[in-house]
Amino acid sequence: MNEYSKEISVVVPLFNEAESLPELLAWIKRVMEAHQFTYEVIFVDDGSTDGSWSLIEQFAADDHVHGIKFRRNYGKSPALFCGFRQAVGRVVITMDADLQDSPDEIPELYRMITEDGYDLVSGYKQKRYDPLSKTLPTKLFNATARKVSGIHNLHDFNCGLKAYRLEVVKSIEVYGEMHRYIPYLAKNAGFGRIGEKVVHHQARKFGKTKFGGLNRFVNGYLDLVSLWFLNSFGLKPMHVFGFLGSVMFFLGFIAVVIVGATKLFHLWNGVPAPLVTQSPYFYIALTTMILGTQLFVAGFLGELISRNSERRNEYHIEKEI
Ligand code: UDP
Ligand code: MG
Repeated sequence: MNEYSKEISVVVPLFNEAESLPELLAWIKRVMEAHQFTYEVIFVDDGSTDGSWSLIEQFAADDHVHGIKFRRNYGKSPALFCGFRQAVGRVVITMDADLQDSPDEIPELYRMITEDGYDLVSGYKQKRYDPLSKTLPTKLFNATARKVSGIHNLHDFNCGLKAYRLEVVKSIEVYGEMHRYIPYLAKNAGFGRIGEKVVHHQARKFGKTKFGGLNRFVNGYLDLVSLWFLNSFGLKPMHVFGFLGSVMFFLGFIAVVIVGATKLFHLWNGVPAPLVTQSPYFYIALTTMILGTQLFVAGFLGELISRNSERRNEYHIEKEI
């Protein structure tokens, strides 16, 4: 335990949440002091324009508080990534800045990581205080994420309130909008003990949600497909493209045999043979052979890219003796 310089790091990504910040920090401090945790709070200001940063500057007079300021708004995932890079606590807690997540959950989350042996514990907003337009699509989203990731015990992948063992946040790379799939990232990095805790949720007190609009669902699904692909074939692209290419070639080959055999059959019997271009199989052969070639080329390119990647031999080693 002494190898960690703090027990808890709280990472808070924020974008224009000035109204909530003072209350949030006071609440976190209250909980930490009541339980006598050694802790730090890392505020990551994701390009706010509402004076959030000047508040953080004032907070930083307290040694427990650190701040990171982005030059512009990059998104929640980059904010988490930079917060994770700085964190030193044995347990890292992420929490939204809008007071929707309750700091009172921290002690139990800490206990679940340190005593129950979880690598990651995700909050589950069983009773949500968000509009229906948000909660309904979220149900669908979570069902798909459960299926694709194979993490069947999570109800709420995208809950902002989560706790991690420090090694987990140092081993995953949250980029783009991948904060929705952190449990999946963790699982792919080899951290399979993933748990869930029902947490209290409140309606947003100030400001409004930064994730409105429907395109986040389209993007969310595309990200899930990317993650699935990277995890399954990232290191061996030829296995998928080569397989699909072979299937295409096989179909093409059968079509060619049909075209050729029909022609020969007619010639053999001395009847005038129709032109091969009149047979649908001719076109099937043409298309599938071209597709097959392209798929193989994609596979070779994929292999070249992964061969040349500096990270091709980056594995997470748990122990060495
Ligand atoms: N956030 C951020 N960068 C962004 C968008 C959001 O750091 O580009 C932060 C935001 O300030 C909040 C958290 O991410 O602390 C969750 O955002 P929000 O509460 O708007 O999402 P919701 O709870 O509505 O899903
Ligand atoms: Mg919120």
